This record gives sequence, C-alpha cells and structure tokens, in this order.
Amino acid sequence: MRISVDPELCYGSGECAYRVPSVFTDEDGFGAVLPGREQEGDDPDVREAAEHCPAQAIRVT
Ligand code: SF4
Repeated sequence: MRISVDPELCYGSGECAYRVPSVFTDEDGFGAVLPGREQEGDDPDVREAAEHCPAQAIRVT
C-alpha cells in the first residue's frame, strides 16, 4: 500500500520520523516519505505512525 504525507496538514511534529526512521524523514521541517519507501504501507509500524500522527496527515492507500 502506498504512503504519502499531506503537506497541507503536516505541521512538522517529527513523530513519524522518530517512530519509523526507515520510512519517514524530516524534509525542511515537515514529515516526508523517504524516496523508494512509498510502498511500505503494509508495515505495521507505518500503520501505527499514521494512526498516531497528531495532524492525521499520513495517508495509507
Ligand atoms: S507525525 Fe504527522 S504531523 Fe508529525 S511530521 Fe509526521 S506527518 Fe507531520
């Protein structure tokens, strides 16, 4: 499943990169998916990061 971060909602808490640094990173102060990791949406850690994103900015589709 595909992961994306909605830049309109993300406010750069950094929580996603802290929880799953192999998939998320900080990009100019905002959360972003690392290049080549966009299809890691089946990873339970990614699901958990999405559920805990305080801005509900992480989409798993
Ligand atoms: S956890 Fe959510 S609000 Fe925080 S950096 Fe990641 S996407 Fe942005």
